[in-house]
Amino acid sequence: MAAIVCQRQTKRDYPVQPVEFTKVSVTDDFWLPRIETNQKVTIPFAMQQNEETGRVDNFAIAAGLLEGEYKGERYNDTDVYKVMEGAAYTLATNPDPELERSLDELIAVIAAAQEEDGYLFTPRTAAPEKPVVGIGEERWSNLAVSHELYNAGHMYEAAVAHFMATGKRNFLDIAIKNADLLVRTFGPDKLNATSGHQEVEIGLVKLYRVTGNEDYLKLAKYFLDQRGKDLELKIYPEGHRFSIYNEPTQIQAHKPVLEQEEALGHAVRAMYMYAGMADVAALTGSEEYVQAIDRLWENVVNKKMALTGGLGAHHDRERFGENYELPNLTSYNETCAAIGSVFWNYRLFLLHRDAKYMDILERTLYNAVIVGVSLEGNTFFYPNPLASDGKFKFNKGAACRQPWFGTACCPGNLARFIPSMPGYIYAATEDAIYVNLFVSSKAEMNLKGNPVHIEQKTGYPWEGQIAIHVSPDKKMEFKLFVRIPGWAQNRPVPGDLYRYLETLKEKPDLKVNGKSIPLDVVKGYACFYRTWEDGDVVLLDLPMPVRQVQSHPDVVENKGKIALERGPLVYCVEGIDHAGKALDLVLPENPQLSVEFVPDLLNGLVVIKGKVFLDGNIRELRAIPYYAWCHRGVGEMTVWINRKKSSREKTVRHPDN
Ligand SMILES: [Zn+2]
Repeated sequence: MAAIVCQRQTKRDYPVQPVEFTKVSVTDDFWLPRIETNQKVTIPFAMQQNEETGRVDNFAIAAGLLEGEYKGERYNDTDVYKVMEGAAYTLATNPDPELERSLDELIAVIAAAQEEDGYLFTPRTAAPEKPVVGIGEERWSNLAVSHELYNAGHMYEAAVAHFMATGKRNFLDIAIKNADLLVRTFGPDKLNATSGHQEVEIGLVKLYRVTGNEDYLKLAKYFLDQRGKDLELKIYPEGHRFSIYNEPTQIQAHKPVLEQEEALGHAVRAMYMYAGMADVAALTGSEEYVQAIDRLWENVVNKKMALTGGLGAHHDRERFGENYELPNLTSYNETCAAIGSVFWNYRLFLLHRDAKYMDILERTLYNAVIVGVSLEGNTFFYPNPLASDGKFKFNKGAACRQPWFGTACCPGNLARFIPSMPGYIYAATEDAIYVNLFVSSKAEMNLKGNPVHIEQKTGYPWEGQIAIHVSPDKKMEFKLFVRIPGWAQNRPVPGDLYRYLETLKEKPDLKVNGKSIPLDVVKGYACFYRTWEDGDVVLLDLPMPVRQVQSHPDVVENKGKIALERGPLVYCVEGIDHAGKALDLVLPENPQLSVEFVPDLLNGLVVIKGKVFLDGNIRELRAIPYYAWCHRGVGEMTVWINRKKSSREKTVRHPDN
C-alpha cells in the first residue's frame, strides 16, 4: 500500500513489504462495491461538505484570495487533506483527468495559503492578529491543543499520496517546504516541544520514504521521544473545553513512550502514536521501540478491545477505559481509532511476520471500520457502540449515522482508507509471498526481479473456500505463506479477552494441486516452500459455522451474555427483526443456529437464524453482520445477547481463571 511504502528504498526497513494497492485489483462482490461507492459517492460528498462548510474557503482566505473569516475548528484543514489523499488513491488505480484537474486547482490555493517560510496552518494565517480559539497567540505556543503539527502530518500524507499517484510535485513541494520549517524549528537546542495530537510522525516518515531526507525520520523520532518530558501545557481552568489537555495522560505525554505499558488517554492519538513508533522502530532498528509497542499491544488486545476491534471505552475525552472496562451502550469506539488500529497492526505484522496482528486487523476491518459508513456511502458513525436502545444519541446528537459532523475526522478518514484497503491483502519479501486477507483479487509482485501473479477466487466473507492461483512467469522456488485465521483455529483473538464457547473439531483443509497437505501452522501461517509453476493452485477451506463467543469474566458488562460470529464477522440483533426489541432477547442454552444468504437484504448478506426468547415467548431469531446495522431506521441493537444458562452447566470458567 502506498500508505506505507513509497518508491525510494530506505536503508533499513520492515522485513516484509506490502504489495501496494496499485498492484492489486479487487474483483469481489464485497469490497469492490464499497471501493466504488467510496469513489463515486463518499469522496465527492465529503469534498462538497468541505466546500459548503467553509473548509476549502479557509485556504482561500488565508491565501488572501477571498474576503472573510476562518470558519470552524482549528483542525479543519485536515478534512480537506484527507479527502485529497483518498482522491489521490483513486487516481492511482482509476485515472480521471477531471478529478486530477480539480485537485491541481485546490493545490494551487493551498500553495497560496502557505507562508513564505513554509508555515501552513490556515486558522492562524487567515487572521494572525485574531487567532482561532485554542491555537495560541504565536506559532507553536500551544502545541498540546493547537493541532498545528497534526494538520502538517495529514498534509504530508496527502501530498505523498498525490505524488505517488500522479508523479507531480506540486503538492509534495508544499509538504517539503513545511517539513523543512519544522526541521529548522524543532529539536534539541531549538524549540523543545511536541504535538498534543500525534500524526505528524506518520506523515514525516512517509515524506522520508519519498525524499530519502533523514532529517524527517529523525524529527519523527524526536517528536515521539519528546513525550513525557519538557512538555509545557497551557493550563485551562476546570470546565473549559480545553481543560482536558491539562492532563498529560490524555495525550500520551505522561511518561516517555518507551516506558508506556498501558494504553491510556485519547484512543485515536494513541493509535497514531503506536503506528508512528512502529515505523521508527523498523526504520532505525530500535529494539527498545519494538519492546514498547509490543507491551502496549498486549495491553490493548488482552484488556481494552471491543469484540468488533473497536477501541476507546469512553465518550468523555474519547479515551480508553480501565482494563476490562468495555461498555456496550456507551462505548465510544471511534471510527478513526479503528482505522488507526489497522495502521498499527499492519505495521506490527510487517515487523514481526506474525499473523496474530492480521487477525486483529481483519476483525477490526470487517467490523469496527466499515460499520462507520453506510452502504450508500454518505452517512457516517463517529462512535460505534456495541448496543443501542434507540434513544441514546451516541452519534453526536443522533442515534443513527449522520451526513457530517462539526469535527469531521471520521468521514475523511474512511474516504482515504477504503481505496487503500487492497494494499492489506498481500505482502512479500525477496523470496516469500504472504496471503493475509481473503478477497477475490489479482495481484502482481516481484520476487528477486521475477514477476509472479497471484489470483484469489473466493466468496469470502460469506464462504470459507479460497482458491489461490500462483503463476510465476518462470518456474521458481519461493515460500508461500497462507494465513490461517485464529477464528478458524478456535481462537477469536490472540489473547484471552474473548473465547468461543465450544471447541470446533473441524479443521481448515489445505490442498496443493488437488493433493491434501497436513496442516502445520507457524506464527499463524501455513507455509508452502516449493518450486512453483504456472497453473499451481492452493485450495484453503476454512470451516465457517456460527460460533458463540464469551468475554473474559472481568468484563462485567458481558456477564451472562454471548455474541455470535461467523468467519471474520461479528453479528448483532436489531429491534426491527424482533418486534422492536433487541436488548431483551434471550438465547436458549443450546441454540440451534443456521445460516442463510439473503440477496435482497442490505446489499446481500448471510443472516443467522434460530429461536430466541422474548418476554417468555419463543420467536424467530435473525442476526445480521454488525457492519450492516442501522440501515432500517433507528431502534434497538445489541452484539452481546442475554443467554439462558443450563442448570446442568457449571459456570464456564475462563482458561486462565
Ligand atoms: Zn474520527
